[in-house]
Amino acid sequence: MTEHEPDNPLGAAERDIIALGIATASIILLIGTGGSVMPQVMNVLTGTGGAPNVILVNALLLNIALIIFGWRRYRELTREIEERRRAEARARLLAATDPLTGCLNRRAMFEATEELRARAAIRGEAVAYCMIDLDNFKQINDMHGHSAGDAVLVMLCERVRALLPREARLARLGGDEFAFVMPFPAGHADRVDDLVIRLFESLAQPFRMPELTVELTLSIGLAADHDADGTIGLVVDAATLMHRADMALYHAKKQGRNRYFWFEPTMESELRFRNQLETGIRGGLARGEFVPYYEQQIDLDTGALVGFEMLARWRSPQLGLISPDIFVPIAEEIGLINEMSERLMEQAFADAREWDEALTLSVNISPVQLRDPWFAQRILKKLVAAGFPPQRLEIEITESCLHENIGLVRSMIMSLRNQGVQIALDDFGTGYSSFEQLRNLPFDRIKIDRSFVSELKEPGNRSRLVEAIVSLGRGLDMPLTAEGVEDEDILKALKEMGKLKAQGYFYGQPEDAEAVRTRLRAAGRLTGAGAGAEAAPAQPAAGEDAQARYRIARP
Ligand code: C2E
Ligand code: CA
Ligand code: CA
Repeated sequence: MTEHEPDNPLGAAERDIIALGIATASIILLIGTGGSVMPQVMNVLTGTGGAPNVILVNALLLNIALIIFGWRRYRELTREIEERRRAEARARLLAATDPLTGCLNRRAMFEATEELRARAAIRGEAVAYCMIDLDNFKQINDMHGHSAGDAVLVMLCERVRALLPREARLARLGGDEFAFVMPFPAGHADRVDDLVIRLFESLAQPFRMPELTVELTLSIGLAADHDADGTIGLVVDAATLMHRADMALYHAKKQGRNRYFWFEPTMESELRFRNQLETGIRGGLARGEFVPYYEQQIDLDTGALVGFEMLARWRSPQLGLISPDIFVPIAEEIGLINEMSERLMEQAFADAREWDEALTLSVNISPVQLRDPWFAQRILKKLVAAGFPPQRLEIEITESCLHENIGLVRSMIMSLRNQGVQIALDDFGTGYSSFEQLRNLPFDRIKIDRSFVSELKEPGNRSRLVEAIVSLGRGLDMPLTAEGVEDEDILKALKEMGKLKAQGYFYGQPEDAEAVRTRLRAAGRLTGAGAGAEAAPAQPAAGEDAQARYRIARP
């Protein structure tokens, strides 16, 4: 950073020449009076003259005193100025750095980047801006406390610094967000790649502290002010460079973290599309565009319909029918998943109240929802408000929920089960739940993920995984549901494995409440007001829904 001098009062003080002026004037006077007095003094000393003029001698002495006073005042003043300048420099440094790590802070980084760009431009070099975000820092802080988190950040900075070239500047932009900017020879972005790879390797080494050892992963976004071929790019200022690196970082996070990406122009349109989705989701939630669809669940033994799994759909007027794989992650990220899920549940309870009481309702719960300690209470309250029997409700949670606060998840599962709600472990086999967790957590059911079930597709085919999961379920005395039953072959293979529930497109696509009502009315399994009504108006064919379901809007 430049130590530029704004118009500070010290400059003026420094030029405080009064003291110096007094001294100078005194010196001139001294020369004047000295010129008259000195010959007289000499005459006295040599015995050739009378006593010197008393007034002149006094003036001379006063002169000398003034010179001493002026000089000392001048010395004091310069010392004071020096001290204040040092204090100012210290304050400026503090204002520019992060107190914990000694890195630059966000504000100072902007200036540092502009400066480095200017210096590199003179040499014909390019500049790369690198954004670093730790993937799991929050867990470290939560699990081991903030002082452990702080210690990790300090060590991390040391490791990064050790790898950076001399001219690079490192900044801590916020909690666990860092950035550095470095020059590199234009057209040789691979040098930056090499450095970033070494950075990943270095930071993958465990961080050892006296009491504990933690491991980190990080995501990185990069942007350069030159194109890959070494020509000057369209980046006009540090702000654009930073924004681009930020978009690349966001992309890296979306791609599954623990990786790095260089900025590409498509990322900008992706982000725009995402923002559009986000706005659409916010508005759509308020306008009631999120609706429950239902997928049939069948008892393989009897072939009877035993319940439905509720699957969320977004009926967007602009984008069509959107799959939860697209909007659920965004709703989770923007903190709307609770509200969305609860509204869907309210609708589903109301729908399911009209169904035959023997039919169950399964709902998917996001790991994010399980972070709320009041989750179980809220569900139970909703059940009471809707007058829906808890015994008919099944909550599906995925294995990823078990990585969160396991104690909390356990107690929530317990309070739900105490009221009669069933708990199913969804997508079994795709996560990392250990045998231990399965044994200790009170699940009522395991759902075999459809990626395994689809292995049974080929006639005569066997899936060792499905067989293993089935025998695991039997061993733990836990009922099983197979997902993704798409055809007769799969169905046949599953039937040979014994008692199972099944669901999948073989039984039909997920359908909306109205289609379910029509289906149940035809089967005589609708209760209450809906049972006796005339046939409902024609519904869109399942195939249409299926087409719409996979329509993924692109930017
Ligand atoms: P999931 O819980 O594994 O749900 C089953 C998914 O597989 C559904 O996709 C369903 O339409 C699809 N499916 C069912 N049978 C077949 C089949 O035979 N073949 C194939 N290829 N696919 C089949 P969908 O509805 O797109 O849901 C995707 C995921 O979104 C769900 O996976 C679930 O994890 C999540 N999800 C759905 N609704 C909600 C919700 O209300 N809240 C939360 N948090 N997540 C939801
Ligand atoms: Ca599910
Ligand atoms: Ca599944």
